[in-house]
Amino acid sequence: MLRLHDTATGTVTDVAYRNPGEASLYVCGPTVYDAPHLGHGRFALVFDVLRRYLHFTGVAVTYVSNVTDIDDKIIERAAERGVEPGELAQTYETVYWEAMDALGVLRPDLTPHATAYVDDMVGLIGALVERGVAYETDDGVYLSVADVPGYGLLARQPLESLRAGARVEAADVKRSPLDFVLWKKAKPGEPTWPSPWGPGRPGWHTECVVMSLDLLGEGFDIHGGGIDLAFPHHENERAQAVALGSDFAHHWVHNGFVVVDGEKMSKSLGNFTSLDDLLARSDARAYRLLVLRSHYRSPIEVPPATTAQAEDGLPRLDGVARRFGLPDLLADGPVTDGAAGAQAVDADAVEEFRRRMDDDLDTPGALAAVFDLARRANAADDAGDHEAAARAATTVGLLCAALGLSLHTASDDALDADTAELVRRRDGARADRDWALADRLRDELVALGWVVEDGPEGTRVRRP
Ligand SMILES: [Zn+2]
Repeated sequence: MLRLHDTATGTVTDVAYRNPGEASLYVCGPTVYDAPHLGHGRFALVFDVLRRYLHFTGVAVTYVSNVTDIDDKIIERAAERGVEPGELAQTYETVYWEAMDALGVLRPDLTPHATAYVDDMVGLIGALVERGVAYETDDGVYLSVADVPGYGLLARQPLESLRAGARVEAADVKRSPLDFVLWKKAKPGEPTWPSPWGPGRPGWHTECVVMSLDLLGEGFDIHGGGIDLAFPHHENERAQAVALGSDFAHHWVHNGFVVVDGEKMSKSLGNFTSLDDLLARSDARAYRLLVLRSHYRSPIEVPPATTAQAEDGLPRLDGVARRFGLPDLLADGPVTDGAAGAQAVDADAVEEFRRRMDDDLDTPGALAAVFDLARRANAADDAGDHEAAARAATTVGLLCAALGLSLHTASDDALDADTAELVRRRDGARADRDWALADRLRDELVALGWVVEDGPEGTRVRRP
């Protein structure tokens, strides 16, 4: 039985499904106004692992993750670039999915877009006004949080202390500083939709309420996202659902930050490293491994050295795949625990893996068990116990597949003469500490379609 931390109660509890054997998940997706950073990669990987693990244990998963394609930041950035907001959003949505594909993150079953749900959002806001919990001002429509029972559940703070900490702006038209905008009346030059309160656009917190209830129905199982979304975004989503009398998410799951020098990584702080940078410099699987090595609720630091360290774990697993000729179990999508077919698996190891994962997704523990198994496979083979070795190796392949970690069995790509020459020159430039030349030669290799990695023995290249 899977147990997960629930932000609403602050405790690790059983995940009870609305329909036995079926899990419904809603995870807040990206606002597409820039290239995705490592924080996006982390939430996507964490929930990809959760989704794959549920599938592994025989639970049928419906995974919905939205795309926010209209927002202040999109409008601002589009104006800076002199393009339409819709065009900018489309561009960065494409970039987002390319990065997710590179990370091996499964595409959601459903990907609702905010702009496709505006009419439904207008309907929801209208219902809130009718119930007397939302009010109109000169610039929009707001939800009165004092009229929502239990506001502060996800912040884990009572309304009074939230109110004491809230920033009051001089020009505020709101009745209370915690009230949040549901509908923004049009400003010149912005995209607008019609509404009973005049042309405008919805605030960010309404879309996920409408889309999750529409696609997953009342009382869906798990609502997730990065911990920075717990308050106010998820609190405000929940407040709308509660005010409408809807049965909303039953379990709230949040992953920790990616931090740089102790500070949260975010675009607004300007300290983000793009996923593209990471993917150009290291094996895409290294980030999955790095994410798995930390508990999903802990913050992670991602300096370059850490990525290199995570990358060092990959050859140990790939080595087992090569030595024992393991098949690529992920070729046909996520696996179930029967994916090894007629091949014997180490049932105790699978049970240990499940015990770890069921315990609030203890991926560091589960991964340690997989590495231990890899060591045992090699040791048994060295000792001539080929049956035990094969069983352990098959299990390594199965459990890596359960975590979405593909293993490479092919030996290094053969290098053509031109590539070999570029690699040789680049190693020379690095030895001479001529970083500009080394960077230029790396760019040449990338242009030839190679992924370039800096290993202890110098430049390594491989096909993506
Ligand atoms: Zn959301």
